[in-house]
Amino acid sequence: MGKLIFFLLVAVAIYWWLRKPRTIGRQDPSPPLNEPETMVSCAYCGLHVPLRESVVAGGRHYCSDEHRDLDGGRKRG
Ligand SMILES: [Zn+2]
Repeated sequence: MGKLIFFLLVAVAIYWWLRKPRTIGRQDPSPPLNEPETMVSCAYCGLHVPLRESVVAGGRHYCSDEHRDLDGGRKRG
């Protein structure tokens, strides 16, 4: 009968081990938040473009390199 109790204890131990939540080391990476895009207006034509896509020159934003050159390059003749 001693063996039966031993196996019963092993079974209980396994049962408890399986019941334990094993979530150690599992961290769901939080999805990147969609930051609202900052819009700037072109200093030359006034078109609104995302800040990342804008061309910055002399503290002014432009929608394209062309407009930056047109606005800033006029003085160069
Ligand atoms: Zn423009």
